[in-house]
Amino acid sequence: MYTSTRDNSVKVTAAQAIANGISKDGGLFVPTEIPALSFAEIEELVGMDYQGRAVKVLGKYLSDFTEQELVDCVSGAYGGGKFSSDKTAPVVGIDSSAYIQELWHGPTCAFKDMALQILPHLLTRAASKTVGDKQIVILVATSGDTGKAALEGFKDVPNTKILVFYPSDGVSVMQKLQMVTQEGANVGVCAIKGNFDDAQSGVKAIFTDPAVAELLEENGMQFSSANSINWGRLAPQIVYYISAYCDLVDQGVISVGDKINVCVPTGNFGNILAAYYAKQMGLPVDKLICASNANNVLTDFLSNGTYDRNRSFYTTISPSMDILISSNLERLLYILSGCDDKKISGYMSELSKNGKYTVDADILEKIKADFCAGCCDDEQTKATIGSVYNEKNYLCDTHTAVAVKVYDEFRTATGDNKPTVIASTASPFKFTASVLSAVDASLVKGEEYEMAKVLADATGVECPAQLCGLENKEVRFSSVIDKSDMQKAVYDMLGIN
Ligand SMILES: *Cc1c(COP(=O)(O)O)cnc(C)c1O
Repeated sequence: MYTSTRDNSVKVTAAQAIANGISKDGGLFVPTEIPALSFAEIEELVGMDYQGRAVKVLGKYLSDFTEQELVDCVSGAYGGGKFSSDKTAPVVGIDSSAYIQELWHGPTCAFKDMALQILPHLLTRAASKTVGDKQIVILVATSGDTGKAALEGFKDVPNTKILVFYPSDGVSVMQKLQMVTQEGANVGVCAIKGNFDDAQSGVKAIFTDPAVAELLEENGMQFSSANSINWGRLAPQIVYYISAYCDLVDQGVISVGDKINVCVPTGNFGNILAAYYAKQMGLPVDKLICASNANNVLTDFLSNGTYDRNRSFYTTISPSMDILISSNLERLLYILSGCDDKKISGYMSELSKNGKYTVDADILEKIKADFCAGCCDDEQTKATIGSVYNEKNYLCDTHTAVAVKVYDEFRTATGDNKPTVIASTASPFKFTASVLSAVDASLVKGEEYEMAKVLADATGVECPAQLCGLENKEVRFSSVIDKSDMQKAVYDMLGIN
């Protein structure tokens, strides 16, 4: 069963947690008990492929789904050639202790595919268990990556429709091209005149308007959310840390029972929280290393126990980590406080009122037992891309480079040489201009999609087919609307009014 981080009297099934997305009290759904993973089970997983591992691990959390349902969800997400690596999330060693796990072989070349490819399958089955055969309508406001990953995930999934709003001047050329050329019969993409906040508040207003909900109901439809706090996005992320461990066993780097570290480039704290869950299940993990860019609110928090968002917001070359409120942290605090829902409600209301809170000393002590944290700026990020490429012949993106840099500092400061899995969250070709400038600044010119070819030629690394040649794809969505017309756009797309 699942409960809410802000109200322990809530008891829902996994399907209800996924179908509802967020608890009515504003809290996040968390499992009431973290399932165990024994060494014997890890041994068994070592012999399986990614999909087999995913079915076993997800089964521990989604116990109201049948094994056949999970098999179907997993093969729908990771099978059928949707991932360009047959290992789905391969692990590549770059030196004697740094092992990069590439989480970006999915359709949009970013790690969000790992969760957003399977979420639609989980969500439609969860909905049929809880609300019957209604059509699920997903609305997304995006600043770039999430919108595309959600579109690809929901594309042509039966009984769903998805509409994505993006700020017309707030996304990169590449991101815009990725979205406006989106294929699928059940998808819609719409630019709005405004910024990301306008898009987000517009979506929220439509989402929470009872009159809109009623109209959908009359037409056999219901809103749901693909938001990153949905448990259906977190659970699939636990799988790949366990899979990375199994791969290291398989490669002969470790034996079952040996400890590893994990280092994660962090924004909303979802990815690293999944690693924490894997550790709580019994995966032999020592330190969880949280890597931030110049927006280092988490570095401070994990070191001194005060979360303070009252600080400058920086726009960096690792934009998916430009975030000052890390929503998923709430789940960690809930666990570390001994499931103290009142305490968590208190912290969260302090955060919304004053923009800060300080956790109790015993919580900070537990944080320090499991977590280390570090950060680096854009210059260090670029220098890291350059040195990893030149010295280790490995090309990494801007987000991954933040993690590599922070890991290097950790290793130097602690002398800890345990094998460490570094989560690589995007293909270098997704952030081509920054990566190219780190490799050879003299080559930077023209549009981003032109530079992708230059980067491929300069490094000999192949540009993913989904990103190369995008400019030649048919543009399917070109409307730009006022933010006051968003509701009408939703009705038009759904064919209702
Ligand atoms: C979303 C994202 C992140 C941050 O992940 P969180 O789960 O929000 O911490 C890091 N890198 C890339 C490329 C992303 O798209």
